[in-house]
Amino acid sequence: MHGKSIGWDDTIVALATAQGIGAIGVIRLSGRQSINIVNRLFPAKDLTQAPSHTLHVGYLKEHGKVLDEVVISLFKGPKSYTGEDVIEISGHGSPYVLQQIIQACVNQGARLAKPGEYTQRAFLNGKLDLAQAEAVADLIASNTEASRKTALHNIRGGFSEHLSVLRDRLIKFSALIELELDFSQEDVEFADRTQLYELLTEVQQTTQQLAASFQLGNVIKNGVSVAIIGKPNAGKSTLLNALLNENRAIVSDIAGTTRDTIEEVLNIDGILFRLIDTAGIREHTHDVIESIGMEKALAKMQQADVVIYLFDVNEVSSAELQSTINEFNNKKLKYVLVGNKADASSEADLRNKFSSIPGITFISAKENRHTEVLKEKLVDLVLQGKVTTDDTIITNARHFHALQEVLQSLIDIRNGLDNNIPSDLIALDIRRCLHYLGEITGEITTEDQLDYIFSKFCIGK
Ligand code: GDP
Repeated sequence: MHGKSIGWDDTIVALATAQGIGAIGVIRLSGRQSINIVNRLFPAKDLTQAPSHTLHVGYLKEHGKVLDEVVISLFKGPKSYTGEDVIEISGHGSPYVLQQIIQACVNQGARLAKPGEYTQRAFLNGKLDLAQAEAVADLIASNTEASRKTALHNIRGGFSEHLSVLRDRLIKFSALIELELDFSQEDVEFADRTQLYELLTEVQQTTQQLAASFQLGNVIKNGVSVAIIGKPNAGKSTLLNALLNENRAIVSDIAGTTRDTIEEVLNIDGILFRLIDTAGIREHTHDVIESIGMEKALAKMQQADVVIYLFDVNEVSSAELQSTINEFNNKKLKYVLVGNKADASSEADLRNKFSSIPGITFISAKENRHTEVLKEKLVDLVLQGKVTTDDTIITNARHFHALQEVLQSLIDIRNGLDNNIPSDLIALDIRRCLHYLGEITGEITTEDQLDYIFSKFCIGK
């Protein structure tokens, strides 16, 4: 059971829609007094007698003065988003009017909501588990189709379900092993070791799969950083412009990135590609790489998840390209080779010229030819053909770290079993494993952790 925070009995109020002028704005109240508070501002009807899930049109008034004509949606707990009595007031979207309504609710005894407080209450009332609540934040922040799908899948309980089934089975084993402790004099085994091994393997596989999905999840949530690298005049800025013309993404803010290293973002098939240091390309300054070993270019490449190596097919020999590739491989870079200015030669000639080097994409940046092949390559490189966004994907660093702890404790349990160590030590490792599994779904959390997680939401969510 979660401890109730101070202020838990309060009725909270906040604007649920975005700040600024809109056709309508929605103000949401949640808590024991929601219906009473709004009822005192709504003379047209007695809302306290209204059934749940009903709509009511009328004037909102304070001290006889009309504030707005509104639609009131009424949800009685526990069948509401937060599990408490919830009222949503849809008013006209003037920030001034909405502010007046919020103030009127405060005058009647509501308190302004803290960031994420609605979702926090939903969690504390058991409407969502923690992973689902965090997915709500991700959904609100999602700016591509892929991030939307992933967040939605997780809100529906995607991977929480996975984990809680495994957790339940581990709990059973843990109970059996702890039972053995009570009979420790008699050398009995209640917990079937073979079955325990099998279960461990299963948990390990699931955990590993989830942890592995984090890389992709991170990509979906935060985007993939791409560096376009090549000699001067290879056509980098031409390519950049061609890509941006069709795929420029609308992004306000991407977590963990700064404006000075990232200039432009592309949205290709729902994945965000962040083109780093495009300023360098435009200014034709430090992007010059006569030798790939040059420090600045190298730093830029190593910062990128993917490197687009662009070369002029008329200027570069196959031997020279091979030595560049060798350097990339030594540095363990993920790269795509793109032969530009292919407009002057036939593809067959080019394949012939570079026959020893497979996988080159030949394009004409200037004529915007075959750039779609390059885009497909980029997406493939990220997804590696093995994941769709309908799969369960971890996008949250907190979950990822907990999964790492789960994996480590699984190794310890297995080592313990292999070495026949006493049951009480094995029981400890199982408990540790359960602890971290529980941390993900929120079965085990501290108040500090919760406050931290929900403080990252915006107000009104
Ligand atoms: P950067 O120095 O790598 O950024 O190269 P630019 O994009 O400035 O291009 C250098 C020159 O190559 C310009 O005159 C471009 O018009 C030309 N160029 C770029 N892409 C192509 C292409 O696909 N075909 C041809 N024929 N010329 C190109």
